[in-house]
Amino acid sequence: MDRIPVAGPWITQKEIDYVADAVRNAWYSNANIYHERFERGFAEYLGVRYAIALPSCTSAIHLALLAFGVGPGDEIIVPDTTWIATAAPISYVGATPVFADIDPETWCLSAQAFEACITPRTKAVIPVDLYGGMPDMDAIREIAARHRIVIIEDAAEAIGSEYHGKRAGSLGDVGVFSFHGSKTLTTGEGGMLVTDSEDIFHRVMFLRDHGRKPGDIQFYNTEVAYKYKMSSMQAALGLAQLERVEELVARKREIFDWYRDALAGMDGVTLNAEPPGTRNSYWMVTVILDAKFGIRKEQLMTHLSEQGIATRSFFYPLSSLPAYAELRQAAEAQTRNRVSYKVSPYGVNLPSALNLTGEQVGHVCDTLMRIAGA
Ligand SMILES: *Cc1c(COP(=O)(O)O)cnc(C)c1O
Repeated sequence: MDRIPVAGPWITQKEIDYVADAVRNAWYSNANIYHERFERGFAEYLGVRYAIALPSCTSAIHLALLAFGVGPGDEIIVPDTTWIATAAPISYVGATPVFADIDPETWCLSAQAFEACITPRTKAVIPVDLYGGMPDMDAIREIAARHRIVIIEDAAEAIGSEYHGKRAGSLGDVGVFSFHGSKTLTTGEGGMLVTDSEDIFHRVMFLRDHGRKPGDIQFYNTEVAYKYKMSSMQAALGLAQLERVEELVARKREIFDWYRDALAGMDGVTLNAEPPGTRNSYWMVTVILDAKFGIRKEQLMTHLSEQGIATRSFFYPLSSLPAYAELRQAAEAQTRNRVSYKVSPYGVNLPSALNLTGEQVGHVCDTLMRIAGA
């Protein structure tokens, strides 16, 4: 049997046709046609005014921080449990990441922990819609508004998720997405920044194009800035995927249902949460094994791998990583963030690729139950 993959896209003839058309035709006066359609369609899908296609989600977070004027001396609060791409751009601009604990149910930024981390230096917070799940955004927004803190919503893993009738990515001052090959909607590599703010939109457009205003005098740069653009071929792929986004999300939810049903009889496992009033797009089906099994994630992943099943580790707390070993804020987080440190050792992302079959998921669940002796 082939190895069961952990993540990967669902590509159809539509994607191939759009990309081929871009290669043939998206040049000269048509150079931007796919960007325009992808960005307009994306903004409409989200219910926001502006969407800017970028080379990655990392670059989107970098530009968002720059556009809000974040720099040395500023503190930015992030959940301790996320991919490092959420936090790395904070260092790019010379600011300091502060790692707040996660909520035990959603595994996303805890509103309480966020508030406790606020200081007079706090300029922004970057809540993450982890694995497609939604944080308590009402509480986070209320706290942020009270302290005049900007919200950058990292929805890299959450296209198609919803919170109280609004789409993931549309709940902050800025939202950011990733279209990396492992994500639900892919352009190979790619990202998107969305906002309702005209000022932020113009500032990001300027910063991502070497500091020149659209339509200004040619080659007349007014600041040293960045070159963050997506190619037409990627935009064409993204447009085709966007036109199928409901199908992609429905498949993710179907995969999650297969797991939930198969593991329903197993005691001591926790899967991704979907609190009332939210929709989880289940980018990664994630299992937390109760500590009573005495099986840490590394062990479980090795066993599953021996059975031909690829998995991923639940994110290590950022504050535990060598990358932040020198940072005082990381040392403080290590003793403070109990939930992050309690959940991470027992969490594993199970195969969630869009090409999975029900049979493969059944095999994963059988194997998991055998390993856990449940
Ligand atoms: C994938 C991911 C990113 C980074 O996306 P890139 O497109 O690879 O830069 C950022 N944040 C989270 C939560 C992610 O999962």
